[in-house]
Amino acid sequence: MITTKAGKWVEALVDCSGAQGLYIYALPPHLSIAVGDILSVPFGKQQIGAIAVRLLDEIPHTLSDSQIRAVDSVVSQGFFSAKYWYLLEKVAAYYQTPLMQVVRTALPPGLLGRSQRRVRLLPNVIPPDAEVFLPPAALCVLAQLQHSAEGDYTWQYLRQKCRGASRGIQALLQRQWAESYLALPKPPRPKRRQAVTIAHVPSPGEHALTTRQREVLSLLQRQGGDMWLQEALQYCRTTSTTMRSLAKKGYLSIEEREVLRQPATYTATSDTPKALTAAQQTALETIQSLTSYAVCLLHGVTGSGKTEVYLQAIAPRLQSGQSALVLVPEIGLTPQLTDRFQQRFGDRVCVYHSGLSDGERYDAWRRMLQGEPLVAIGTRSAVFAPLPNLGIIILDEEHDGSFKQDQPMPCYHARTVAEWRAESETCPLVLGSATPSLESWVALQGSTSEAAQPVSEKMDLGEVKRDRTPTLHYLSLPERVHKRPLPPITVVDMRLELQIGNRSIFSRTLRSALEDMKAQGEQGILFIQRRGHSSFVSCRACGHVMMCPHCDVSLSYHRIHSQATSLLRCHYCGFSQIQPPDCPACGSKYLKHFGSGTQRVEQALETELPELRCLRFDSDTTRNKGAHRALLSRFANGEADVLVGTQMLTKGIDLPQVTVVGIIAADGLLYMADYRASERAFQVLTQVAGRSGRGEQPGRVILQTYNPENPVVQAVKQQDMLGFLDTEIEQRSTLTYPPIGRLILLRVTSPNPQLAEETAHDIAAHVAPRLSDDWSLLGPAPAPVLRVARRYRWHVLLRGVISAPIPDLTDLPKQCPNQVSLTIDVDPLNLM
Ligand code: ADP
Ligand code: ZN
Ligand code: ZN
Repeated sequence: MITTKAGKWVEALVDCSGAQGLYIYALPPHLSIAVGDILSVPFGKQQIGAIAVRLLDEIPHTLSDSQIRAVDSVVSQGFFSAKYWYLLEKVAAYYQTPLMQVVRTALPPGLLGRSQRRVRLLPNVIPPDAEVFLPPAALCVLAQLQHSAEGDYTWQYLRQKCRGASRGIQALLQRQWAESYLALPKPPRPKRRQAVTIAHVPSPGEHALTTRQREVLSLLQRQGGDMWLQEALQYCRTTSTTMRSLAKKGYLSIEEREVLRQPATYTATSDTPKALTAAQQTALETIQSLTSYAVCLLHGVTGSGKTEVYLQAIAPRLQSGQSALVLVPEIGLTPQLTDRFQQRFGDRVCVYHSGLSDGERYDAWRRMLQGEPLVAIGTRSAVFAPLPNLGIIILDEEHDGSFKQDQPMPCYHARTVAEWRAESETCPLVLGSATPSLESWVALQGSTSEAAQPVSEKMDLGEVKRDRTPTLHYLSLPERVHKRPLPPITVVDMRLELQIGNRSIFSRTLRSALEDMKAQGEQGILFIQRRGHSSFVSCRACGHVMMCPHCDVSLSYHRIHSQATSLLRCHYCGFSQIQPPDCPACGSKYLKHFGSGTQRVEQALETELPELRCLRFDSDTTRNKGAHRALLSRFANGEADVLVGTQMLTKGIDLPQVTVVGIIAADGLLYMADYRASERAFQVLTQVAGRSGRGEQPGRVILQTYNPENPVVQAVKQQDMLGFLDTEIEQRSTLTYPPIGRLILLRVTSPNPQLAEETAHDIAAHVAPRLSDDWSLLGPAPAPVLRVARRYRWHVLLRGVISAPIPDLTDLPKQCPNQVSLTIDVDPLNLM
């Protein structure tokens, strides 16, 4: 029978093959346990590793004392810091997610299952007459350890050798003659991969080769004559048959080589800090003066050298033994960016993102837990990287939507979690962007800090109170490095093009800009928005857009199959109508939904501007590992004149030869059926425009649209961020949308359409009575894309004032019938 005094239980995370979960154990009186310790606990017939997650004063009344087993021993103290568990608990509470699910998001799978408990004798502490004091089990263990060469065995081995080994080990530990520790497992056998090397360079007189084979050899040679086979195939756009026949002829050798899972891709040419511009210097000094929790918004125009500021902010911290966490958007994790960090910090850099295999993720964790200071650079989930002694967190492109997880739960925003983390680690958080999010902007205006703030005249947030008001610093890099000008933006009215009979997707202006560019031997980028977002309907003759009469958002185009009637639907309120055959504003027949893929642009280039060589950069062409890097280096080497691509082109690409950026149709961005459409459009367009003119030659941007007078287009053209933000905040205030208000989205999905709809209504009925006056309930409404991956999706949207406490919704998922799942998305970004 276990006594029921306060603090007598521990909730422990068990994580081994076949089981993962939180279990309650009793604390035996002789053990003192702290959160973050690694424990050994009984589980079924085994003893396994577990992490102490929480100390409990009470146990759930559904459990009786007799059902609870006791912790066996403490394997390793302070393995995870209490701060770390605090962070995970905070995420669980705020995002209404069971703690276990948060833990799963944060930890690599099988972390504990693969580790081993070991015991070692401490040197020179065992008195000569030790036997006198020890019980027989401890004597047996001692004898075993003293016999081994290193005084070190696994628990498992000792158990086999001695009866009552656990008690024996405990006796030695209590006397502090031995210590118990968790040995992280040896990495599995190193991975091997095939590599190609040039063995013999053909002389011009050799006839054994086809033209194509020669081409492949010369491409390889250009890359230094040595590449991984997989990358070489992509880079040379060839097949392994071609490679093998070249190998057979003796021109190449193909062999297996060992790869490090954390590939050391940085070159020997290390890079030194640059002399900073005055603005960079001021920003850096402010950041360096911060030694406790504070948030800095580093607002720097594209090409203003934000990354250089990050690098120099990190360097001294790393020197003094602190780690740094650098978070970048999915699309921002380009090889160019990681190369820059690796060139500066060498093997101190640890790359960490969701694309890593389990093994790679595990290796990265192992390194971080070893305690040497590191620079971890990664995407969203890296916000949970267990870095020792964190000295600074940097979140680059803080406005980017990929920092938010849509599903599965927890639907966390890495910026929010980074704030909590910086707060608990008492270190500064730097948010960098050329186009700050409305969230950060409003927080800045509401901040009580005396730090410099940007002047924004119309801003009046009245009663708005933020729930978090750390010291906020505004740091500005208003100019590009070397005072290079921002590229001028020409807006082209595509309606006029249609009027004069130009049906091409290229306006005359863009066409002649591309021709000039080719003549000058420069390069260009053609941008179109990602597919799937082009669901609004507009008139190509007059630019009229079909809007919801109730909600101030554009209607989405729906068509379940090709014979069905086209429906237009509002996914906020559920309003729907049949798509009219003609434009309600001007009567023209050109009322169409938008769509223009990268492939279409590529084809149009081929027929209309055949002298331009083009490379396509989208999720199709960059799917394979390393394809990103291969494509970019081919473009940088001048293998193509234009790069055609989607959102992936917006960030992290610093190519000095690019002088023309063409935005094929801005409209797809302007009318996403979402209250954030304008903000996102402004950000993406500004970022894409920012790829132009980063080198010696000045750049230009041509923005094509059917709505030249659209305020977003105008703001982008005039590079008027403050004006844009003011208008946008005003609009959000009227409708209590974030960041003035707050939203919670309940997503109901099911393979069964009726069940999805019914459950959505049930959920709404459950929730409505528990909402205070500060909240209102919108819907249920079908999601704008009704069916995804064979599941039907319905939404219930809760909208509240920013100060309203979030209602407890954690019981809702349990109320869903089989076949229906519910995701609670607090502060959703994506309402699609
Ligand atoms: P951002 O991240 O703000 O778009 P980057 O950090 O990519 O800008 O900088 C743009 C370019 O300017 C890069 O090629 C970078 O190496 C260079 N650069 C940055 N700071 C300096 C500086 N102080 N002196 C010279 N070049 C710089
Ligand atoms: Zn509506
Ligand atoms: Zn019209």
